[in-house]
Amino acid sequence: MQVINVNSVSGRVAGFLAIIVVVSVSIMAGLGYIKLAGVTEANSQIRIDRAARAASSILDHALDGQFTVIRGEEGRPQALRLAPGTQQDALAFRPLYDDLLKEIGATNQGAANLFRLNATAATFDRFATTFRKPDGSMPPPMSISQGHPAWTNLMSNQPHMGEVPVMGRMRLAYLTPIQSPSGNVAGALAVDVGWADDLTIARDELRSTILVASGLLLIIALGLGLSIVSSALAPLRKLATFANDVAAGKNDDAVPYTDKKDEIGALAQGLSRVVDLQTELRILAYKDALTGLDNRARYLADLANVTGESLAGGRNWVLIHIDLDNFKDTNDAYGQKAGDALLQRVGAVIKDAVGTDAKVARLTGDSFTVLMPKVGNANTVAATCKQMLDKLAKPFALPQGEVLVSASMGLVSLPKDAKSADEAHRNAGIAVRKAKEQGRGRFVFFAEEMNEAVQKQIVIERMLREAIDNGEIALFYQPQINPFTHELMGVEALARWHHEELGMISPTEFIPVAESTGLIIELGTHIIETACRQARAWLNEGFDFNHVSVNVSPAQLWQPNFTNLVKQKLEKYGLEGHHLCVEVTEGIFVDYSNEKISQVLANLRQLGVILALDDFGSGYSSLGCLNQLPIEQLKIDRAFVADVHRDPRKQSLLRGIVALGQSLKLAIVVEGVETREELMMVKLVGCNSIQGFFYSRPVPAQDLIARVAEIAKETVETVREKAS
Ligand code: C2E
Ligand code: CA
Ligand code: CA
Repeated sequence: MQVINVNSVSGRVAGFLAIIVVVSVSIMAGLGYIKLAGVTEANSQIRIDRAARAASSILDHALDGQFTVIRGEEGRPQALRLAPGTQQDALAFRPLYDDLLKEIGATNQGAANLFRLNATAATFDRFATTFRKPDGSMPPPMSISQGHPAWTNLMSNQPHMGEVPVMGRMRLAYLTPIQSPSGNVAGALAVDVGWADDLTIARDELRSTILVASGLLLIIALGLGLSIVSSALAPLRKLATFANDVAAGKNDDAVPYTDKKDEIGALAQGLSRVVDLQTELRILAYKDALTGLDNRARYLADLANVTGESLAGGRNWVLIHIDLDNFKDTNDAYGQKAGDALLQRVGAVIKDAVGTDAKVARLTGDSFTVLMPKVGNANTVAATCKQMLDKLAKPFALPQGEVLVSASMGLVSLPKDAKSADEAHRNAGIAVRKAKEQGRGRFVFFAEEMNEAVQKQIVIERMLREAIDNGEIALFYQPQINPFTHELMGVEALARWHHEELGMISPTEFIPVAESTGLIIELGTHIIETACRQARAWLNEGFDFNHVSVNVSPAQLWQPNFTNLVKQKLEKYGLEGHHLCVEVTEGIFVDYSNEKISQVLANLRQLGVILALDDFGSGYSSLGCLNQLPIEQLKIDRAFVADVHRDPRKQSLLRGIVALGQSLKLAIVVEGVETREELMMVKLVGCNSIQGFFYSRPVPAQDLIARVAEIAKETVETVREKAS
């Protein structure tokens, strides 16, 4: 039998059974015992009663006239009264008593004794008895003294019925006082009906019989009960083990007992539904619902595994992060359904290209990951990536139309490039960003220098945050000059960060950081505010600056309330829309559809704000932008100006662009004119607005008016001397 545990059902059932058995046996046996004891007791009472009556009658009749029986209500002897003058003889031994007492003893099947009161000692001393020693001789003398159960009654002349000690044991006895003729107690007649503690012995025997019987009953009941319960519970135990195994992911078998028709069957069916649910959940937890590829959780777990494996000297792995470059276009142009379909197709292409050993997951939106065992060298890996890029570059035919995508990929070799899964993930992300920076549609192997660049960015980011909070970012202004009249055509506001320790930090360093961290929103707002405040100050001074241009990053344009923000600032400083020019680059085409761009720019135009396309010619879709954007000003990149006097090709390009701009009725600003030669060429192609070091570097606001005045006065030669 197994050890009984009170916490188990069988333990509790066993306990319950034990209590029931013990209680019922106790009640039954106890009742029987009490009844038996009562009957025995009553029986002895009757016997002793009869014995007392018989004894006194025998004495009365045998010794004619010497003893008179005084009887109580029920005729029970209360006392034996001695006749006058007989007391001396009656209370002393005479052989006749031996016969009489023997007669009484035989009648009662017990013993009989006669006592005489010793008044001085207050004891009753025995002078005749039926007792004999085993050898037949008389037993030693015996007295009833104080402390004997019968003593008090006898002393007060009353009979006593009850157990009395006889030779170390108890006997049920009846003691009748013998009275003097005057009625005083003078002795006693004691009779008994044998050993009274036979009853006790019989009761004790009965008790041990009951104990043994109930013990046996207990064992039988427990044994039977336990084995029945435990066999009934066996399936439960098995189901519990099964459920635990399932929870621990150790069991995929079917749930047992589902065919049973009882409670166990119901439980098993319930468990089986839980198991089904768990299987579904596991799929949900580790699968990307859209593409059927692994999801982020699975990817992270796999990455941790393979990183561990490669660091422990096992297989080498390659981690690839893949980002689609222009996924938003598809979503915007064709809707989310098309976007989803595209993601599924892209997922399938990737999975197909990397082979069955690789684990492909979708992280979020349009970013995918591949973990593949490294076979061959970097060239082999590169070939796989190249193949993938080629396949992705082919147009996808969706029901909504043909879609072109390209992807950027970042590669990390394990264990070479990372000492932990976290680091591998981070470095792959860095490599993807590098691929995007380098012009998208390509793959880039992670290199430690990238990480250093990122670290530097992190430091700049922290400092920049503080700089914005402390108002350390100021604006410098660079004039745009008409080279024919030396009139001021406008000014461009350019951000400057003067750092206490590091000195001047270039916007080409901190603007990209601000853009990639989102700080550009706050910074950009600060810049627009500052430029507008400055414009108001100039107007108040009567300085006609025409317009102040601010550079606006794509992220700023896409903030939901950008037009409102501009409107507010204009109102706050009492400016007209045409006092402000917003410069955008073709970078705005990266994330959003043409429709959205046109809408935001149209809203700005509504305010009367001038729109300029900055850095024209530095990218590759510049020409395309021209007819898509509602712009009024074209800023020609310095690339077309630098050394233009020495390069006939540049000259014709510049001439062409200016002519194109003019034919589109756009104002044209040429950037980066540094030398007199460059200026001559620019003038030659008919450009009437020039921004460059030749006239002025960007200067603090308070210096601008003086600077512009100087330009207007000075001859071309002196300006040039200053600039060089
Ligand atoms: P950008 O918008 O093309 O600004 C003109 C840049 O050309 C300025 O550089 C200016 O100092 C420089 N420049 C002007 N004339 C000459 C010249 O004759 N020769 C040469 N070599 N350079 C000249 P800066 O101030 O360093 O700004 C660099 C870029 O940082 C800006 O190019 C613009 O893209 C960005 N940036 C500057 N301020 C802001 C700003 O407030 N917001 C945003 N979003 N970007 C800004
Ligand atoms: Ca600009
Ligand atoms: Ca520019």
